[in-house]
Amino acid sequence: MLLRKLFLFIFTPVFAMSVLATPTIELKELKKQTLVVILLGPPGAGKGTQAKMLQRTLDVPHISTGDLLRSNIKEGTSLGFKAKGFMDSGKLVPDDLILDMLFSRVAEKDCTSGYILDGFPRTLDQAKAYHARLNENTKTIALNLELQDQVIIKRLSSRIVCSKCSAPFHLQYSPSKKEGICDHCHSPLIQRNDDKEDVIKKRLTVYHAQTAPLITYYSKNQRLKDVSCNQSIEQVLDEILEYLKSIYSKDS
Ligand SMILES: [Zn+2]
Repeated sequence: MLLRKLFLFIFTPVFAMSVLATPTIELKELKKQTLVVILLGPPGAGKGTQAKMLQRTLDVPHISTGDLLRSNIKEGTSLGFKAKGFMDSGKLVPDDLILDMLFSRVAEKDCTSGYILDGFPRTLDQAKAYHARLNENTKTIALNLELQDQVIIKRLSSRIVCSKCSAPFHLQYSPSKKEGICDHCHSPLIQRNDDKEDVIKKRLTVYHAQTAPLITYYSKNQRLKDVSCNQSIEQVLDEILEYLKSIYSKDS
């Protein structure tokens, strides 16, 4: 399905969006492969937004291991029960357990043509363990969403939220009508701890330390594409889709 959609996308750039929604051509000769798009990128680069847009465009699920963990615990699955044990005793959930949840999720039918991984792998060990368990019929592509630290700090530290109703605002992109006051409930706007400059800097330091070996790993072993996020959301998406098209036109 995904291959067919990409194929249609390649040959019908102008009507791509509408055609993607209703594919009409059967292409029997295309290989049945699962495409995994791995999104790497610092906090604030717009990874979540791209994941959602790619999910819609390619019609494949967007899988976040954080969400998976929460839903397994909520639904009381045996994996969720084990994970909760670790969390309750203040320990990190082991990678093996996260991988078990992930592989049980991607075995579901909606992941047959592909899926988007967001927030995983986060470390080199996780990446190696994940790829060791993938079957050979899977093609992985890692997208490295890049944005300079100064831009991220400026972007994130300009976020403010309502102290009462939590409505989000942005000093630059979506300011409130009256400075410092919520448009909806007229309560004062505050900056969340996570959005304070020194907290963002610490998160970025951790991100770079963990991700650098991952980037090296993917550039050596898999397909890695650097995508600059210092452009509009639509331009970033276009660049990603162009890249996917180029891969498929080479391979098919
Ligand atoms: Zn409010």
